[in-house]
Amino acid sequence: MSERFVKERFSWRSLGWLLLYFWFFSCALQLVIVLTGHSGTTGLRDSLLYSLLWLIPAFVFPARTKIISSVLGILLWATSLIALGYYSIYKQEFSQSVMFVMFESNSKEAGEYVSQYFSLKVLAILIFYTVIVGFLWRKVRPVYLPFKYKVTVCTLIAVVLFGAPLYKKMHNEGETLEEASGYLASRMSTTAPWQYIAGYVEYRQQLASMTEMLKQNAALPPLANLKDANGDTPRTLVLVIGESTTSSRMSLYGYGRETTPRLDALRKSDPNLVVFNDVVTSRPYTIEILQQALTFADELQPDLYLTKPSLMNMMKQAGYKTFWITNQQTMTKRNTLLTVFSQQTDEQFYMNNQRTQSARQYDDVVFAPFEKVLADPAEKKFIVVHLLGTHMKYKFRYPEETTKFVGREGIPDGVSDSDVEVYNDYDNAELYNDYVVETLIRTFEKTQPNGFLLYFSDHGEDVYETPPHNVLGRDESAPTRTMYTVPFILWNSPQWQKDHPIDYAPYVNRKYSNAHLLHTWSTLAGLSYDLQEPEKSLVSPAFRESKRLIGDPYGKKALRTFDSLPMTADSR
Ligand SMILES: [Zn+2]
Repeated sequence: MSERFVKERFSWRSLGWLLLYFWFFSCALQLVIVLTGHSGTTGLRDSLLYSLLWLIPAFVFPARTKIISSVLGILLWATSLIALGYYSIYKQEFSQSVMFVMFESNSKEAGEYVSQYFSLKVLAILIFYTVIVGFLWRKVRPVYLPFKYKVTVCTLIAVVLFGAPLYKKMHNEGETLEEASGYLASRMSTTAPWQYIAGYVEYRQQLASMTEMLKQNAALPPLANLKDANGDTPRTLVLVIGESTTSSRMSLYGYGRETTPRLDALRKSDPNLVVFNDVVTSRPYTIEILQQALTFADELQPDLYLTKPSLMNMMKQAGYKTFWITNQQTMTKRNTLLTVFSQQTDEQFYMNNQRTQSARQYDDVVFAPFEKVLADPAEKKFIVVHLLGTHMKYKFRYPEETTKFVGREGIPDGVSDSDVEVYNDYDNAELYNDYVVETLIRTFEKTQPNGFLLYFSDHGEDVYETPPHNVLGRDESAPTRTMYTVPFILWNSPQWQKDHPIDYAPYVNRKYSNAHLLHTWSTLAGLSYDLQEPEKSLVSPAFRESKRLIGDPYGKKALRTFDSLPMTADSR
């Protein structure tokens, strides 16, 4: 009796080892992610929390601790091993986007990629990981809790993990059970084995809404009387879409710091590079602006993207083979429309399957697929490259060794000392974006193409720029000019320029909104059709300057003009 009593006494040491054992499966990877600066700490927090769930069976049946820890251990080891291996190879966390790419794209190619990158180093990491699991498993001992503590602790874990977040979302924020469950799933998606279940559920949901939107798009009537002035001439046209890159922080547009040395040099040496000086966006958010820029929709007719063909549809109808290369997140609820746009093309390359938008991810991943697509034998090609650009977190957009801007030099006095780092990070991200855009142009040039490349940013970003230098990010309800001013650059190949000897000088200072991009693109590509409005084309002789509307077109009296925005943020 007394021996049994001693044996079943609660031990902090046993609890410690048991906790460490269950934590290890999910938190090891999250710890690496935080320590290597790949992403923030919320993933670590969530994996610490949601691993506590496994304590419940071990507390309830302490006599079975070894069996429970073995069975759960095998499940958690196997699932976390896949996530760890995936991260070791791709430097991306396993997410629902990975599911999408696995199920929806060419899996043979993915397999080739894995065999190419599966190295001894990756194998060593996985073996080392497994050895630690084995060591921790041997340390696992039963944790005996008196009945009332057992009930209290288990209830507490259930409340903290599930009750509290659901209550907060549904009661405090008025969300439905489905929305709140989605939130819970996303928080659990760092923890083995939930990332697969949550990922699969999210993937199915996004796929359903995407399929519905694609079905609607496929049912739209084609553009009437579409004509191609360039006939069957072989050609390649490239559209590069930037991200959060404001033109007022580019030396190409007069910024004091040299953030775009490569494009500056290209402009000096190459007369075929045309820089448009006064282009703004209509909305400072990716999805909201691209559903205008890439379609017939604009601030006054915001729903036309649902009822008229898109730019991708138009190019396909004109006989182009169409490609979409993206470094934006693929399969998130927010990005469904983007994925729909990408699926309107013939071939897609999804390069970013990160779990969070703010994870470390560089745009140089688009180079390889870009070269591959340029070599495609199709006679008429249309290539969209969607960059991650200078999206926050700015520090995660460029490799550390490319850092150029440190300290206060070149920063306005009004920027407080605590904001200097972020201010510099943004300029360094602009510098890396300069490298990416210029490399795309050079890579294109090397193929001696007949065609052009157009680069624009979806919107800008205010990084402590507008006086009094205290605004960070974008906010449509508190707009500043910087959130709207975007680069808009055209590079014509020598062959294309020769066949289309257009003088762009009279056009470069026109006031323009990229909401009307599709019309400019039509003129550049030599396409005409019934819906065409040349007065909305930046490069048409028929262009008419119009009010550059900004704001939420669905909001009540939310529209105003960009040109009415004040120069400072005080009087917003
Ligand atoms: Zn954006």
